[in-house]
Parts: sequence; C-alpha cells; structure tokens
Amino acid sequence: MQIKRLRIAGFKSFVDPADLAIERGLTGVVGPNGCGKSNLLEALRWTMGENSAKSLRGAGMEDVIFAGTATRPPRDFAEVSILLDGADGEEREVVRRIERGAGSAYRIDGRDVRAKDVGLLFADAATGAHSPALVSQNRIGAVIAAKPAERRAMLEEAAGIAGLHVRRRDAEQK
Ligand code: ATP
Ligand code: MG
Repeated sequence: MQIKRLRIAGFKSFVDPADLAIERGLTGVVGPNGCGKSNLLEALRWTMGENSAKSLRGAGMEDVIFAGTATRPPRDFAEVSILLDGADGEEREVVRRIERGAGSAYRIDGRDVRAKDVGLLFADAATGAHSPALVSQNRIGAVIAAKPAERRAMLEEAAGIAGLHVRRRDAEQK
C-alpha cells in the first residue's frame, strides 16, 4: 500500500487547504518548531481511524478543527483526504470529515462508509491509525528508554516480523 497524496483543510494548523504529493521512497518533513509537522502525521492517523482525542493531543475530537488565531476566525469543519494505491493495486481516496456539533464521517471514493470499512482497508498490521510504523514524538523517549529486548520487540513489530516469532514459538511447542 502506497500513499500518493494527502489533502488537508481546516485540520489543526492547516487552515487553508494543503495538497501534498507523496513520492515513492522516504519522505522527510522539515520545518521550525510549531510549524505543523506533527499535525501532518496526526491528520494521517486521524483519517485512518484514530479515535482517541488524547493521542491527537486534544481534549475532545473537535479540537482537531482549526480553532482560530488572533487574525483568523475558527473553522466549522476539518477534512482530510488520503489518496492511495490499495493492496489490490487500485487507487482509492479515503476522506474523513468532522463538523462542529455533528461528529465525523468517512467516505471511500465518494461513497459514505462506516469507520469499520476504513478499518478494513487499513487492516494490514503495518498500516492504520495504530500502526507500530507511526511513532509519535512523545513515544520516541519510550523507544530510547526501553531495555534492549523491549526495543527489539518494538522494532520487530514495526518491521512487521513480530508475528513470525509467535508462529515459531507455536511450532516449537507442538
Ligand atoms: P515541533 O518541531 O516542536 O515538534 P511541529 O512542527 O511538530 O513542532 P505541531 O505540533 O504539528 O508542530 O504544531 C503545533 C501548532 O499547531 C501550534 O502552533 C498549535 O497552536 C497549532 N494547533 C494545534 N491545534 C490547532 C487547532 N485546532 N487550531 C489551530 N492551531 C492548532
Ligand atoms: Mg512535532
């Protein structure tokens, strides 16, 4: 699965629509403190189904909507679109939108879908809102502080090979 484009409008500090083409290979996001790098990754996680406001550094889910600044009024909604090449090679657009007082909803290729459908699309263990491949800033400390065996488990999970050990243990016990 490959993410090809990310569109963000009204999400956190991204008040004006932003359109980001994501090329194959490694993508780096650089910029000064507070410019929105973490918000970008949170937009990705939110659209893939993240439902914990706390893990998006908010008190409630509506905190992801642009809250306004000294010079700009707040927005009524936030919308994020992920364009991806699915596991079957087909291009798909996943959209999540939240409106003040009205909750959030998902669309895949323009059709209203359930959160569960988006969950199924990202069901592969290496993707999705809780993918071990997405390590938030406040968890980097945990990786550094971990004991070697724990750190190895984290890295194996991120590399998608944790399941192999479970299967091997299983086989050894038989
Ligand atoms: P650092 O390098 O320090 O990690 P960063 O680039 O990751 O910074 P973010 O944490 O993504 O920065 O962005 C923080 C900015 O986003 C803050 O200025 C904060 O006010 C703004 N922000 C967060 N939520 C909202 C919101 N709902 N409405 C408007 N601005 C918001
Ligand atoms: Mg950050």
